[in-house]
Amino acid sequence: MSAEPQTMNAAVYYGSGDIRFERMPVPAPAAGELLLEVGTVGVCGSDVGEWTHGPHQHPFVTPHVATGHIGPIIPGHEFSGTVVGVGEGVDESWLSKRVASVGSVACGTCDACRRGQSNQCRLYAGVGLHRHGALADYVATPAANCLPIDDLGISLDEAALCQPMSIAVHNVSRAGDVAGQTVLVQGVGGIGAFLVYALVEAGARVVATDMDADRLEIATELGADRTVLVTRSTDDRQAILDALGSDELRVVFEVSGSRAGVIAALDLAPRGCRVVLVGIQKQPVEVDLAAITLEEKVLIGTNALVREIDFPRAVELIAKRRGRWSMIAPRVVPISGLVEEALRPMSLGRSKAIKTLIDPRGDTVRPLRSENA
Ligand SMILES: [Zn+2]
Ligand SMILES: [Zn+2]
Repeated sequence: MSAEPQTMNAAVYYGSGDIRFERMPVPAPAAGELLLEVGTVGVCGSDVGEWTHGPHQHPFVTPHVATGHIGPIIPGHEFSGTVVGVGEGVDESWLSKRVASVGSVACGTCDACRRGQSNQCRLYAGVGLHRHGALADYVATPAANCLPIDDLGISLDEAALCQPMSIAVHNVSRAGDVAGQTVLVQGVGGIGAFLVYALVEAGARVVATDMDADRLEIATELGADRTVLVTRSTDDRQAILDALGSDELRVVFEVSGSRAGVIAALDLAPRGCRVVLVGIQKQPVEVDLAAITLEEKVLIGTNALVREIDFPRAVELIAKRRGRWSMIAPRVVPISGLVEEALRPMSLGRSKAIKTLIDPRGDTVRPLRSENA
């Protein structure tokens, strides 16, 4: 540890529209934690939300119940890195390992944790959401949140995709068994694309819809059986029904988060169909609950990921497609481009990339690497 520097470059969030690049102390790994030299960091829709109209999740009003953090914070919760330090009680064999990490920290002892739903933990905290994250040279994170990638043949860039893939794996698990079933994915963006792949790998037959033809092409590449270009017009319904043909629709994943999307999902769902609400609605939506009762439709929520179950599966899925992720994350941007190359275009819906990655040590935009330099 003595060879490591005392301060580091970091992107620090001060409030909506206000990210500053500053020198910050290198974090000290607490008991059970690793210090990572950050490899690659994914920019998430929730980072965009914090930047455009936050703070929402970042604690600025009262200290976070689990981490005690309040005030300016280093974002970045989808990351990979190389272990350069270990906290108390952590085996030194972690040192110099390359790892993928999910930022989800739970207490492990509350009712939710004991029933295997750590994402519902009363003391749930996210690295990069409720404590300093990875948009910096270094980050401290629990060893339990990390899986070594050296033997999997994936790069640090690809490893940063394991967190959003964990979210997708969790979304799938919320629907229960999907093997052999026909499912609809509405919206192939930052989560939807990962979801298409996770569903295909779980044995589902996927019909994907989006308003962007390029994204539908990616869905096809990821294994979607059929795609439908929607236009938010009255023709969409029939186009989707045509695509479904004689297949019985068993699950709808509503990822768009739009009001039109949720209404379409409930309308398309036949008797007994599950509807997983992945996208977060900004306003209350009036729905016909009588139809849900009488047709035994099932409305399902989903949030974050269960680290113990979803993360190992996600790492497996990313590794299975290694070398073929550049269509999802074509570019890796230096941290200096965080606002203009990632947050702003994403907030305006102008990002062509499904996932934008950040290299805290990079100085130019570069393509995704599928092998470590
Ligand atoms: Zn995220
Ligand atoms: Zn707990």
